[in-house]
Amino acid sequence: MRILILALLIYLGYRVFKTLIISGPVSCRPDRDEDLAVVDDIMVQDPLCEIYFPKKNGIKEVIDGERVYFCSTKCRDKYLDRIKRAS
Ligand SMILES: [Zn+2]
Repeated sequence: MRILILALLIYLGYRVFKTLIISGPVSCRPDRDEDLAVVDDIMVQDPLCEIYFPKKNGIKEVIDGERVYFCSTKCRDKYLDRIKRAS
């Protein structure tokens, strides 16, 4: 009986381990996840995570007079932080 519990624990541990590897430590996905919604807008690329998304769903930010779109405020903040540190 004890070996059965041990086997179960190993199995559960393995599952958790696998899930952690697949999902990864940093998940950078749009907050509004409309998976495969109708593309009726221009697709733009997030300069930080390099995800493509419809422009209207993006977070607009003007950097050095240039309009940049981000998939989420999280990415925007990280990007701005990176620029600040670089300059
Ligand atoms: Zn992003």
